[in-house]
Amino acid sequence: MASRLLMASRFRNSKVVLLITCLLLATGRAEAADDGSVAIRAEFPGGNVVEMQNDGSTVHVAPDLRGDSPWFYWNFEAVAEKPGRVTFVFPEKVVGFKDGAIGFQGPAISLDLGVTWQWMGTGNVSGSSFYYDFEKAKQRVRFAVTIPYLQADLDFFLAKNAANVHLRKSVLTKSRHGRDVELLQIGNSGSATKPVLVTGRHHAAETIASYVLEGFLQEAMSDSSAASEFRKEYVLFAVPFVDKDGVEEGDQGKNRKPHDHNRDYGEISIYPEVQAIKDLDKAQNFPFTLDFHCPTLVMPDHQVMYFVGAKAHPRYNFDNVTDFAGWIRKGLPKNAPHGPLVWLRDQASPSPMNSHYFGFRKGAVMAATIEIPFAPTGKATDPASCRKYGQVMLEAWVNTHFISAAETE
Ligand SMILES: [Zn+2]
Repeated sequence: MASRLLMASRFRNSKVVLLITCLLLATGRAEAADDGSVAIRAEFPGGNVVEMQNDGSTVHVAPDLRGDSPWFYWNFEAVAEKPGRVTFVFPEKVVGFKDGAIGFQGPAISLDLGVTWQWMGTGNVSGSSFYYDFEKAKQRVRFAVTIPYLQADLDFFLAKNAANVHLRKSVLTKSRHGRDVELLQIGNSGSATKPVLVTGRHHAAETIASYVLEGFLQEAMSDSSAASEFRKEYVLFAVPFVDKDGVEEGDQGKNRKPHDHNRDYGEISIYPEVQAIKDLDKAQNFPFTLDFHCPTLVMPDHQVMYFVGAKAHPRYNFDNVTDFAGWIRKGLPKNAPHGPLVWLRDQASPSPMNSHYFGFRKGAVMAATIEIPFAPTGKATDPASCRKYGQVMLEAWVNTHFISAAETE
C-alpha cells in the first residue's frame, strides 16, 4: 500500500517511481498483479491522484494536495486487468473542503491516453463516486475532474499556427523547475498599437479557461475582419501558462503555500513567471489586461461566467468591463454558460493579484479577471465550444468602446 501511495503520488517523483517500479518488477510483484483488477497511475503530465484503497472493483481515491490546501483537482489512469465494472470513490468531504470532487457533467474521460477528452455525463455518478465498465483486459482509461489542457495542447496549437505571420513566440522566463514559459505576441508593437496582456493558469488546475484563451488567440491571429481591426489598434501579448510547473506536474495551484501565483503581485514576487510579467510590463506599460480563470467546481454561484476585479481601478473599469461583457453575451451561442456577469467590487487598495496590480497602475484602461465555469449543468464546456467562446470574446473586444481616464481629463 505504501508503495502504491508513493507511485500514485506525484509526477515530480518520477525517478523514485521508476526505481520502485523496477524493484517490484524485479521481484516479480508488478503493481497490478495482486488480487485487484485495476491499477491506478498518474505518472504523466498533469497526473494527480492519491490511491487510498483498492480491492479491484472499488477504488478509493482523492485529490493529491501535496502539502497545499484542500482542492478538487485529480487526473489519473486506470488500467484494467480484466473486463468489468470498477467504482471509484472520493471522500465525501476532504477535511476543510466543502466542494465536491466531481462536477455537474461528471468526470472527464479519455480513451486515447489523454489525446482527446469528453465529459462523461452523470449517468455513472452517484454522490462522490462514479463507475466505469471496462470492456477488455489491459484497457487503459484516463479520468479527470476536468478536461486537461497541458503543454502538449499548447504545443499542438502553436505548431498548427507556426506559419502564421501575425504570431511570434518567445520565452518569457524559465520556471522554477527549468521549463520554458512561453510568451506569445500577436500583431505589431509600436506607437500605432496599444499593448494588451492576456494570461492563463495563474492557478494550474483551471484548465477550461485555457480553451477559451486559445480561442481568443486563434481569432486574434486570424484573417477575419474583427482580427484585422483588432491588430490595427492593439498588439496582444499572452502568457498561456503562468504556473507552468503546476500545469505539467498536475498541482492544484490554487492556494499554493506560502501563496499562489495570483497572490504574488506584491512588492517581492517569489515566482519567476510573475516577476517576468512585471518586467514585461515595465517595457510595455499595459493599459489592458485580462486574466483567464475558472472558479470552484460545484458552488452554485460559480456555474456562470463572470468578471471580477476592482470596480474603479482603473477609473472606468466598471464601464469598460460592462460594455465588453455585453458584447460577449450578445455573441455567445445559446448553450454557452450564462453570463458573463460583472462582479467587480469596490476596492480601496490593491491586493497582490494580477487584476489589481494592473488596475491600480497609472495609465490603465481595463484590468479584469474572467472566470469560466468548469462544467455547469446543461451548458457546453467542451474544448470546441470553449474555443468558440474565446473567439466571441475577441470579436466583443473590437466592438467595445473603452473609455480611458486620459480621454475625460
Ligand atoms: Zn483562478
